[in-house]
Amino acid sequence: MPHSLFCRRSASPLIAALSIALATAASAQTSPGPQPAPLPPPIAAPADTPYPGTISLLVDITDVTHRVMDVHESVPVEAGELTLLYPEWIPGNHSPTGPIAKLAGLVVTANGKRIDWVRDRVNVFAFHIDVPQGVKSLDVSFQFLAPLKEREGRISFSSKIVDLPWNEVVLYPAGHFSRQITFAPSIRLPEGWKFASALELKSQNGSLVHFKDTTLNTLVDSPLYAGVNYKRVDLSTDADNRVYLDVFADTPAELAMTPEQLQVHKNMVEQAKKLFASHHYDHYDFLFSLSDTVGGEGLEHHQSSEDGTRGNYFTDWSAGIPGRDLLAHEYTHSWNGKFRRPYDLWTPNFNVPMQDDLLWVYEGLTQYFGYVLTARSGMRTAEDTRDLMAQIAANFEASPGRKWRPLVDTTNQPTVSQRAPVSWVSWQRPEDYYQEGLLIWLDADTKIRELSGGKKSLDDFAKLFYGVDNGSYITRTYNFDDIVTALNTVQPYDWAGFLKTRVYDLHPEVPENGFTQGGYKLVYNDTAPDWMKHAESPRGTSFATSLGFSVTADGNLGSVSWDSVAFKAGITPDMQLLGVNGETFSIARLREAILGAEKSREPIRLLLKRGDQLETIPLTYDGGLRYPHLQRVDGTPDRLDDILAPK
Ligand SMILES: [Zn+2]
Repeated sequence: MPHSLFCRRSASPLIAALSIALATAASAQTSPGPQPAPLPPPIAAPADTPYPGTISLLVDITDVTHRVMDVHESVPVEAGELTLLYPEWIPGNHSPTGPIAKLAGLVVTANGKRIDWVRDRVNVFAFHIDVPQGVKSLDVSFQFLAPLKEREGRISFSSKIVDLPWNEVVLYPAGHFSRQITFAPSIRLPEGWKFASALELKSQNGSLVHFKDTTLNTLVDSPLYAGVNYKRVDLSTDADNRVYLDVFADTPAELAMTPEQLQVHKNMVEQAKKLFASHHYDHYDFLFSLSDTVGGEGLEHHQSSEDGTRGNYFTDWSAGIPGRDLLAHEYTHSWNGKFRRPYDLWTPNFNVPMQDDLLWVYEGLTQYFGYVLTARSGMRTAEDTRDLMAQIAANFEASPGRKWRPLVDTTNQPTVSQRAPVSWVSWQRPEDYYQEGLLIWLDADTKIRELSGGKKSLDDFAKLFYGVDNGSYITRTYNFDDIVTALNTVQPYDWAGFLKTRVYDLHPEVPENGFTQGGYKLVYNDTAPDWMKHAESPRGTSFATSLGFSVTADGNLGSVSWDSVAFKAGITPDMQLLGVNGETFSIARLREAILGAEKSREPIRLLLKRGDQLETIPLTYDGGLRYPHLQRVDGTPDRLDDILAPK
């Protein structure tokens, strides 16, 4: 019916129709409405009882062309209901990031006959199977389809390197703790590829590798790297503390390291031994990929870590200064995170939700010790370390998100966004528990040194808290009170109040006491810090402390700081910077323009592109480049330099 008949020509038929409709509507609202459907029965909760038998697992990664991993499991079973789980909550990710969408081709058979499976309608990580009478073992096969394009996920499988976390290629029975399920893992490698893992080798027949039986817990915690170009470097401090750097690279040339580079890596292991006075592994393997194809990574495990960075790690050493704490950070996690773990972050299997509220210890203290060990080993100079700490504080100074979001709430972010990019970093402050955690632990360290007259430090806390059960890798959990008790044992103080105000309350001031107590103060000037001169960052060069954005060399804005000069002028992160003061954009020209405006007090005119629209935006700003540095305060105790000096 053409509605114009009613709407345009005559009002009266419209009124009549409305009256009828309203009357019908009133009588129609007597229905009670829909009721919720019952949920499927819950999945069996994990119990601390052994799963009978050993599950054999063979992963075939020879299809380098399609980057498809073929998985075969033989699962001992009894007749009746069985639920197989694909790991959902991944340790180190602190969130439900198990890549279930990459599982395909699931086929279950017994005695050569196909058996149906049904995915749980609510928990899509669970597959229900009705095991027929007389069946003693199930053959389970599926594929893991590794991402081919970055938008599908981090590239972990290239024609030269693979990073294989076993949680991606395993289905396991529900109803048991992961430490109570035994696996016999094997891998078939592409011809000529080498491998490394913290798993113990059982036997090798050409490219078919068998590992010793292990628990699901240790299996998932012991990823495997393999590749064409491989070098294993011994970083052990002594026969009892065996540590290896397992380097995989795109090219043989990228494996080469200088004697100085080797030495600082050895120093880092030595300094960690001194800091923690213990180790919690049989041997530790840094699984390290240097690649421009395989994505960057930093994922902790008890006896190894997945580490990945650019191909130029050794060949262009100074380019990597800002990220140089990667290995020290992941290694620290062997103590802080794996051996000692928050009681509610430890879970009995990989499908029980994790609670992340103590990540400001798990990650924040690791971030701090990672910086400290990187400096103590000589992997990064004390000056670069101080300048990078200044940059952390300066970024927080330019981030108003702390006015609404207590630090502890940021520990929910791995589950909130699963590390997807956010539009307004400085307002949302997604995962500040890392960097702000670093500042808070620096505050604590310098406070202990101040109160004890230099006799005690956070090193004593490290020995007390982590230096127990030497050689054991059985996790010991802790809670907030355990942290407070240990700090009080080192140095009595109101540590509960100290941590509550900084972590749990809104704390609008940036926690910079560690600088003052350390003998320094935060200053801003026009001199670029040394690390920035060589640094590469995919997110671009930061002007967060001046105009309020970061920008890549090709002009794409990375982030725009909330309430900054740029923000107030209408600049948004989806813009591209094309011109500066009438000339084509470059990082150098933008710096010159900021310095020029400092003298001339003239606005800086930026030409920006958003979609197909061009816009000239004048920015009134004469504050200079405002590079942050830590400046020594004469006559005060030099505690920060003592913290960063080799022990
Ligand atoms: Zn970490």
